[in-house]
Amino acid sequence: MKAFVLDRVVDLSVMRQPLSMTAMEIPEPGEDEVLLRVLACGVCHTELDEIEGRTPPPRFPVVPGHQVVGEVVARGRGVGRPETGERVGVAWIYSSCGECELCQQRKENLCADFRGTGRDAHGGYAEYMVAKADYVYPLPDCFSNEEAAPLLCAGAVGYRALKLLNVSNGQALGLTGFGASAHLVLKIARFLYPDSLVHVFARNPVERDFALKLGAVWAGDTTDASPLPLVGVIDTTPVWLPGIAALENLSPGGRLVINAIRKESADIDALAKLNYVKHLWMEKEVKSVANITRADVREFLQIAEAMALRPEVQVYRFEEANRALLDIKERRIRGAKVLRIA
Ligand SMILES: [Zn+2]
Ligand SMILES: [Zn+2]
Repeated sequence: MKAFVLDRVVDLSVMRQPLSMTAMEIPEPGEDEVLLRVLACGVCHTELDEIEGRTPPPRFPVVPGHQVVGEVVARGRGVGRPETGERVGVAWIYSSCGECELCQQRKENLCADFRGTGRDAHGGYAEYMVAKADYVYPLPDCFSNEEAAPLLCAGAVGYRALKLLNVSNGQALGLTGFGASAHLVLKIARFLYPDSLVHVFARNPVERDFALKLGAVWAGDTTDASPLPLVGVIDTTPVWLPGIAALENLSPGGRLVINAIRKESADIDALAKLNYVKHLWMEKEVKSVANITRADVREFLQIAEAMALRPEVQVYRFEEANRALLDIKERRIRGAKVLRIA
């Protein structure tokens, strides 16, 4: 089979083709695993974090990709569901130990043995992949392969961020950064909290216009003051300044939720601007979103179906994986990027 692999950590500003296409053996599913023929795979900012070494894979070569839509073509001996022929999704959680205290409490996203799809195990930038049968999800028929892919990370992790924000309907909230994840979060927030006013902070005027079209009540630049205090803000940017600016816009007791697996260090100096009274006093909170649980993915797929969520997608041919990654790196963002593989 054809697969894209990452051989080592690279500097994307120098090395423009980080992945190479190679021929690999089609993998065999183990006892509790299924073999998928990959139909589509989303391209995520986290792949850049893997490639550039902010969250490096433990072993090379590795096949990246953690928003995978595939058809079950073979099953290990112990597998009850899914059935052969079923269309399923694989998300960022490839597996967890299932036995530790965190797993028992359904906080499997925090398990010490959490394995990320496409980082700790081969992912979906390939014609076939193996997944754990207990960690795949049937996909609603209303979504095409390309529409379903970004729901599995950008959508599902965005939904988790929204849950952690802990706002109720009618409370004002904000999103800073407006890429693939945030545009889905805006739509989900409009559905779950129809009376809440959603404010969007983005550097790029095109992204601000897009946010207003999707129902944001206000859109401003990253460091603008919001017209009213916000109960919660989700930060999906890879840098520091937007989060600091967001803390200033929080109401007393408000919460900033950072939805980024790693932050880049280019503007780390912005942290020196942190002012206790302006940014943290009055019980303001900062919380990160780490990974995802299976319940998040299942709940979110149901919500996405109920609200007939249509992610804006930009489809690339399988061979164009490197170009799709560079387009994310250089912020040529038009919705979520997806590789069509079959
Ligand atoms: Zn992702
Ligand atoms: Zn565990």
